[in-house]
Amino acid sequence: MLVLVVNAGSSSLKYQLLNMDDESVLAKGNCDRIGIGGHVSHKTADGRTVDEDCSFPTHTEAFQKLVEVLTTGDAAVIKSMDEISAVGHRIVQGAEVFDRPCLVTPEIIDQIDELRELAPVHNHAHALALRACSAVIPATTPQVVVFDTAFHQTMPPKAYMFGLPYEDYETYHVRKYGFHGTSHRFVSAALAEAMGKDIKDLKIVSCHLGNGSSITAVDGGKCVDTSMGFTPLDGLLMGTRCGAVDPSAVTYVADKHGFTPDEMSQYMNKKSGFLGVSGVSSDNRDLTAAAAEGNDRAKLAGEMLAYEIQKYIGSYAAAMNGLDAVLFTGGIGENSWEVREAVCKNMSFFGIEIDEALNRSTRGELMKLSTADSKVEVWIVPTNEELLIARDTLALISK
Ligand code: ADP
Repeated sequence: MLVLVVNAGSSSLKYQLLNMDDESVLAKGNCDRIGIGGHVSHKTADGRTVDEDCSFPTHTEAFQKLVEVLTTGDAAVIKSMDEISAVGHRIVQGAEVFDRPCLVTPEIIDQIDELRELAPVHNHAHALALRACSAVIPATTPQVVVFDTAFHQTMPPKAYMFGLPYEDYETYHVRKYGFHGTSHRFVSAALAEAMGKDIKDLKIVSCHLGNGSSITAVDGGKCVDTSMGFTPLDGLLMGTRCGAVDPSAVTYVADKHGFTPDEMSQYMNKKSGFLGVSGVSSDNRDLTAAAAEGNDRAKLAGEMLAYEIQKYIGSYAAAMNGLDAVLFTGGIGENSWEVREAVCKNMSFFGIEIDEALNRSTRGELMKLSTADSKVEVWIVPTNEELLIARDTLALISK
């Protein structure tokens, strides 16, 4: 059975076509520059590619191109869209409305669009993509939406409420939602399997570290707390996002610079984080290289990240009253031995000991890094959100 997974943004439409019989990827690509031009890059599992400029005034033309590259030309992998059993879409914000994947109907698309105020960059783009997809693919092909926030809906109120007047939670739905939920759900389940344990018996701290980073406390398979908040800006220092700061610093800086709320949001989302602190780059590799060459601000950004991660591990161990395993995933978590080493050093109080040589030589693969004596297991678990979306999609349409 073939499942097409779509991750749509305001100007891009990333996709993977998976053969769910063996969970292999047949082709993947991106139709981007929607609204500002158009470009498609497409690659099949056997190495055939399409790379060309196009015209994508809206998501509809991008979807038409996606269908075209999948079904025609030198890099086609299917003859007709009828061969695809279902389409699964990644949706960023499901708020309190969606706590699990669901089948797409026109009403569901409207509901996703209505949540746009809570995720201005994402949800409206998702709705546009869903409508475009519905117009382009066969009407008989079911579509499923899988929400980034859904895994976090099990948080108790004491974890998700802010100390703001309660009416603003009731009226404006201001609370912690958490993001990266599909990734945290995938990697925590994969970790339990790798450890040979039932996830119900495990207390896990899942560290998803990439351009956007978040940490989740997973107790018995359920999220009990997470570092991202009302938006994906909260929590850790990220590539260009500031993470948690004293809210008074926000109003103070906005006042000093004369920023509008939108400008302040840009400042915190695009000009802060690794980039803002180091002045070097938003990319962890550049930061590590600059720190090695003696750049103090790059070194500081790296130290801030590791310190914040350590504090989250400590506080989530307290929240769960225990800790069996810490996992690293995402571009940084899977690949940067430097960040993992900086985090795991000086955590012997928690019973965390890693094999430093193994950590330094491992990148991007499922691997236990902790020593036999370590009370807490430490693992690298590569994430695969597309695969989980495809699995969820298949599970829902098979019901
Ligand atoms: P996103 O959040 O956009 O999905 P990724 O999960 O791809 O991001 O992570 C991107 C981050 O991963 C960048 O900061 C990049 O420097 C880092 N990264 C990727 N590969 C490596 C590597 N080999 N070593 C260290 N860091 C890496």
